[in-house]
Amino acid sequence: MIDPLATALCAAFVVAALLNLVTAAIAWRHRSATPAAGALVGAAASLTLWSAVGAPLSFPVARAVHDALVYVSFVGILGAVVSLYLLARFACDPHFRPRRRHTAFLAGVPAAILVAVATDPWHHLVFSRIVPLDRFPWFRDEFGPLFWVHTAWCYLVLGLAFRRLAVAWWHGSAVLRRQLGLLLVAGVVPLAGNVVVLAGSTALSGRDLTPLFFTVTALLDAYALLRAGLLRVVPVARERVLETVQDAIVVVDAGGSVVDVNGAGRRYLRTRRPDLPDDPVGLPASLFLTPRALGELPSEGLSYAIGYAGGLHLDVRISPLVDRRGRELGRVVVGRDITELVQARERLEEQVAVAEELRARLAEEAVRDPLTRLHNRRHFDPAAAALVAGAHRAPVGMLVLDVDHFKQVNDTHGHATGDRVLVEIAGILAASARPGDLVARTGGEEFVLVLPGADERVLAARAEQLRAACAGACIPVDDPASASVRPTVSIGTAVAPRDGTDAPGLLAAADRALYAAKAAGRNRVVAADGTSPGR
Ligand code: GH3
Ligand code: MG
Ligand code: MG
Repeated sequence: MIDPLATALCAAFVVAALLNLVTAAIAWRHRSATPAAGALVGAAASLTLWSAVGAPLSFPVARAVHDALVYVSFVGILGAVVSLYLLARFACDPHFRPRRRHTAFLAGVPAAILVAVATDPWHHLVFSRIVPLDRFPWFRDEFGPLFWVHTAWCYLVLGLAFRRLAVAWWHGSAVLRRQLGLLLVAGVVPLAGNVVVLAGSTALSGRDLTPLFFTVTALLDAYALLRAGLLRVVPVARERVLETVQDAIVVVDAGGSVVDVNGAGRRYLRTRRPDLPDDPVGLPASLFLTPRALGELPSEGLSYAIGYAGGLHLDVRISPLVDRRGRELGRVVVGRDITELVQARERLEEQVAVAEELRARLAEEAVRDPLTRLHNRRHFDPAAAALVAGAHRAPVGMLVLDVDHFKQVNDTHGHATGDRVLVEIAGILAASARPGDLVARTGGEEFVLVLPGADERVLAARAEQLRAACAGACIPVDDPASASVRPTVSIGTAVAPRDGTDAPGLLAAADRALYAAKAAGRNRVVAADGTSPGR
């Protein structure tokens, strides 16, 4: 006589076994992607065994066959429990590796249970009695103490797995929550089903229906792992991310109270306000944030740098926190320590300033005569060219000045005295210069002045004035026995455009006039046109 209920049950077990087998095969193909897939292979394979034995047990079988199938079902149960535990651990932390204590707990206990089941005919501690029946479910199992130990252990392990998932879900990011949530739901189904079965209140009472529920678990787990992308998501708790961030982050609610602070924020607040409690949550943010950080906030946020006494520099960014409807919830204040950056920038600016000063000094040195500090020939040539080029607008006077019998000064009083004479004359020339004039030492004891705007008359007057000033100079000599040196100078002048239209031409004309002055007896001024204003 074929019982339709038993047939339907048998079919359900066969379908469950096949579904689990397919799940195991799919997970097997993904086993290299993550250890969680390996655990899923173990769970689905174990559930295949557990479901498969349900099929023959739906029909009358010999006692020995019954006992063997029951043994196989224990292998399936324990395998499924251990695999589901590992699956939960791997899903929460891909770096999880079972330690020795895990192995003892997850392998040792099941091994002991299997030994107990295998040896049950001798001690009857797992099943105190197995009574054959002449109708479905064909055998009535009466449970012994070890059966309840086994059941308790299974619940404990699954409970631990469940707890792991729940904690990871609680702390997880949104995407991780979605996936761990699937695993959690998957775990609830068989637990509920198993409670019902153990309570013995189903129409199929006496047959273990749990593998059918666990098939739902395996399918949901497979979906979560292989379709919903759990394997691709790194389970990192949000809080840990915030804690790891180097920036100080303070969350302030709309009322101005601190609602959250990360580790860097706490460290910063401790150094700024050691008098405040270590945990600033709940305190008014105005105790340690500036009015600017807490003031009017544009919708795009605010960002500024702030420097504190003591050298601390912060880059502050403030973003508004709004809910989905755009209502203000508060603000996030992020402070980044940019002290080193600012210091490095200041150092760099100093170095650039020093380098610029050195460069300018070097450039100046290159065009100065070290003895008299007047401009040298290197500066004179282009500067004179530029000034004489302006002669088409207004006359430009040039004046070449040479110290008379200077060799004698050197020979008589020494080179140092000669130098002093040069410095003295340079001082007279520099003092006489007007804005726009060019004064240079172009040779040993030879000086040139370019006077823009000076016509013949002005030039003659300036030349004569300079000659007289030099003749009036009195330079002390090193030898106390000797009189002081009273140098004289000869000056040749030329004026552009009359005597030359460019600097070399004008200089040549002035030089010729200088020679004329020397030839005429020195200590005099001679112009390029042969006139002499002096004496
Ligand atoms: P003259 O009146 O014809 O110009 O005669 P002078 O002796 O002044 O001219 P000369 O060209 O014969 O001599 C110039 C001297 O200037 C020769 C040189 O040793 C000297 N002299 C050149 N540069 C310097 C210097 O920097 N310091 C000193 N002390 N003497 C210098
Ligand atoms: Mg000379
Ligand atoms: Mg001379």
